[in-house]
Amino acid sequence: MILVLGGTGEARKLASELTEREVRVVSSLAGRVARPRLPVGEVRVGGFGGVEGLAGWLRENDVRAVVDATHPFAERIGANAAKAAERTGIPLLRLARPGWEAGENDVWHWADNLADAAKKLPDLGKRVFLTSGRQGLPAFAHLDDLWFLIRCVDPPEPPLPRHHELLLARGPYEVDAERALLRGHGVDVLVTKDSGGDLTSAKLTAARELGVPVLLVRRPPRPVTETAETVPEAVEWVLNR
Ligand code: NAP
Repeated sequence: MILVLGGTGEARKLASELTEREVRVVSSLAGRVARPRLPVGEVRVGGFGGVEGLAGWLRENDVRAVVDATHPFAERIGANAAKAAERTGIPLLRLARPGWEAGENDVWHWADNLADAAKKLPDLGKRVFLTSGRQGLPAFAHLDDLWFLIRCVDPPEPPLPRHHELLLARGPYEVDAERALLRGHGVDVLVTKDSGGDLTSAKLTAARELGVPVLLVRRPPRPVTETAETVPEAVEWVLNR
């Protein structure tokens, strides 16, 4: 059996491609989102209980190989997967879409992490479109002089910035709608993680068109493992295990 650590579009696509080729796949989700988009095939939900728990699960379930297709900012599970793979000797592939790259006319600024983004933000604008995800919001909660349009999938917990409007939505998003959103709210700076991929990149196009600067949070480091950038590469890797 192949374990796919999921929670991304790529993970769902991989589960579907492998199932089509009659490879048995179990997809694993953290259980953060109330109504997640489910991949085809078997799904398990919830943490494993750290490295020990994951290594035990891999052994008990006779896992042949693991694909870590989690989000680029899901740092802990990536580290746990690398350690558990090392402990059990089970092959591990990291499937990660490339980060976004600035094009002509993009006005991009980079932050090393969310705290750094919060520090840099007041110099860049006053009306912020914040798309850093629900778990990242507390880093901006103290910025009382700025106004935020906060977009996330599920309702966030406090602390939240004092002046904000909440928009609950899930991608993919279209450029026209993103442009209207930025214009309609008078947004003058966009904050995003460098998630990469097409599903949420429309906001970058809209920002470029409107001359709105973007503050991108750099990806956290991941352990060095075998890596694929695309689903077909990952399918190939699995079929060769
Ligand atoms: P994280 O900080 O790396 O993980 C925290 C803990 O959650 C892990 O130690 C693990 O618990 C559990 N976990 C995470 N991913 C799991 C998975 N796929 N299956 C089973 N357990 C998992 O992760 P996160 O940033 O909270 O993200 C959680 C999930 O949301 C990930 O699967 C990721 O792909 C998805 N996601 C994250 C983001 C983001 O920006 N962070 C964006 C979109 C989607 P145990 O130690 O108990 O095993």
